[in-house]
Amino acid sequence: MTASSRSTPEIPSRSAPPRIAVVGSLNMDIVLRVPRAPGAGETVMADSLHHIPGGKGGNQAVACARQGAHVHLLGRVGHDAHGAALRAALDADAIDHAGVQTDPEAPTGVACITVESTAQNRIVVVGGANARFEIDAQALDTALQGASSLLLQFEVPMPQVMAAARQAHQQGCPVVLNPSPMQPIPDALWPLVDTLVANEVEAALFADCDVQTPEDAAHAARLLRARGPRQVVVTLGAAGAVACDGNGCRHHLGLRVDAVDTTAAGDTFLGALTVALARGESLDLAVQTGVRAAALCVTRPGAQPSIPTRAEVAASPM
Ligand code: ATP
Repeated sequence: MTASSRSTPEIPSRSAPPRIAVVGSLNMDIVLRVPRAPGAGETVMADSLHHIPGGKGGNQAVACARQGAHVHLLGRVGHDAHGAALRAALDADAIDHAGVQTDPEAPTGVACITVESTAQNRIVVVGGANARFEIDAQALDTALQGASSLLLQFEVPMPQVMAAARQAHQQGCPVVLNPSPMQPIPDALWPLVDTLVANEVEAALFADCDVQTPEDAAHAARLLRARGPRQVVVTLGAAGAVACDGNGCRHHLGLRVDAVDTTAAGDTFLGALTVALARGESLDLAVQTGVRAAALCVTRPGAQPSIPTRAEVAASPM
């Protein structure tokens, strides 16, 4: 494995923005800032409480949109105030959410997040309407028209993830999978995935090996590539990410920043990487764009508000 020398990613100019389809969850994040997380049976006082738009599908859609992509999002919210607030947040980033269904009974998904003073977060998710999301083949067909990628995660039911991946595969649209929150990847899904982006814990589980170092991550990524994906990226938190394709594996160092909240770091990385790939950048340049965008994200609190724009990433001195 080679360690990269970091170079400033090229930003090729293209007149038409890349089109990205996202299928995934929408949650209202209830964020509690705490000096430290409570232990079992313990109560701690929070310093603050905020309601912030989140959910992996919504976050990744916003991350793609802020990198300049035209984004179609398919998901499901409840017929309630949280659902309306999440749609308004998508409007603010010009994301097409005609494919977001409204559930007449189930509430909008909620994530309860504690963020400690160390920036460590702990998350409990109530799926709500996300758990009742069903693929509408026609809506997905519309979203896939001209799309460079379909982005998928695991916060909506697995049969729907499978159906979306199958349809994208049939329509010739590459699938980018972020297998989070962690659960087993069905055998039938592996060959439908073009790009797999997993964190170190997920990579260790799927490759069935220990992932502590960049070398371990490269070993895991090689094992995961053998299952189908053309390229595999393993993210390593502050240590950056390992990119692996047919040319081998390279470690891209993380950027040193004062992290205040790592919520949505992975989603920001995913969005920036996916749009960079859609613009025709190499895997390495796309990973470097992801590392730069995610480093900015962790310096800001919250999920969607912390996701940087393309201009911010380009202007960052990092
Ligand atoms: P999360 O679930 O918190 O959104 P994740 O577990 O999916 O994240 P990580 O590997 O923690 O993914 O982070 C994704 C990317 O974000 C890393 O590859 C790195 O580039 C960046 N990153 C995360 N934490 C830090 C940090 N403390 N300092 C700088 N960059 C970071």
